[in-house]
Amino acid sequence: MIDTINIAVTATSNSRLSQVDFNNIPFGKVYADHMFMADFKGGEWTDYQILPYQNLSISPANSAIHYGQSVFEGMKAYKNAKDEVLVFRPYDNLKRINKSADRMCIPQIPSDLFMGGMTELLRLDRAWVPKKAGTSLYIRPFVFATDEYIGIRPSDTYKFMIFTCPVGAYYSEPVKVKIETEHARAIEGGTGYAKAAGNYAAALYPAKIAQQQGYHQLIWTDAKSHEYIEESGTMNVMFMIGDTLITAPAGETILKGVTRDSVLTLAREWGIQVEERKVAVKEVINALKNDTLKEAFGTGTAATIANIATIGYDGKDYQLPQTGETSFTAKVLRELEGIKSGNLSDPFNWVHKI
Ligand SMILES: *Cc1c(COP(=O)(O)O)cnc(C)c1O
Repeated sequence: MIDTINIAVTATSNSRLSQVDFNNIPFGKVYADHMFMADFKGGEWTDYQILPYQNLSISPANSAIHYGQSVFEGMKAYKNAKDEVLVFRPYDNLKRINKSADRMCIPQIPSDLFMGGMTELLRLDRAWVPKKAGTSLYIRPFVFATDEYIGIRPSDTYKFMIFTCPVGAYYSEPVKVKIETEHARAIEGGTGYAKAAGNYAAALYPAKIAQQQGYHQLIWTDAKSHEYIEESGTMNVMFMIGDTLITAPAGETILKGVTRDSVLTLAREWGIQVEERKVAVKEVINALKNDTLKEAFGTGTAATIANIATIGYDGKDYQLPQTGETSFTAKVLRELEGIKSGNLSDPFNWVHKI
């Protein structure tokens, strides 16, 4: 299926592509030549354009800046051996941006706008999709309020935009995480399940404290009792205890990751026992103490799989066993990277060809 919409395209006459060292790409700091933009006004989406990547001009009274009415998504594009551009499960991100938008009183993004804008942008900037193993083009769609108004109410106008960044590996080393038992990321009835801008601002302070204590990231626990594990930073988190893969159910307080779903689907396909249920901190600590916790990892688009090497809890650091080539973590990472880059078959129809 090809999604076509009418887009006014202004191509750059000054590509920055030749200035990029594709062997050494800092995450999220290099932007491809173009960006997609659409405006919501008078109750509808209009003015679809592709422009050279550039700054925006925004009123100091822009309501998204003051009150955070803003949601985003993250996806990745890869190049296969035939130089075709592949995007991993974009329709799941479309569904999720609309779930997030609904929670933040932001108008829905129609499929032809989301898919059509992304498709045209990727066609124009296809040379920016890197090919080397472990690299990809990160795609950042987002919507934010644009009313010039210092009063709290849903904005009447919005911008939907997409830009892209070529990226290398996210974490190069296994991560050291701290189980957070004081602050919370999300509450029942709150916005934890939405990729809403404010969630990430609220997470910075507890993450900063953990970083000062020598950890890379946090493992969030439930806001009420801090006895149950929710996520790790901006990734879902999974534990291999004995031969069972365990992760928290993606309810109101947990962002339902596309990578999470992909890992669980592959695990079930491989006949591994999978449990989506509440995971008690105590259970994980006990498994660490009696050596039944074999693997722990975060799942998310940026890192795909981030191996956890150390878990800190209650002032004590617990080391996890080293994971080798035959571990579930390594196997599922190879499988996912293989499917995404078109090197392995795609039995679940996850890959969308541009
Ligand atoms: C984006 C995100 C994830 C991972 O979702 P993916 O779809 O796998 O990228 C997990 N947790 C949080 C809080 C997130 O923002």
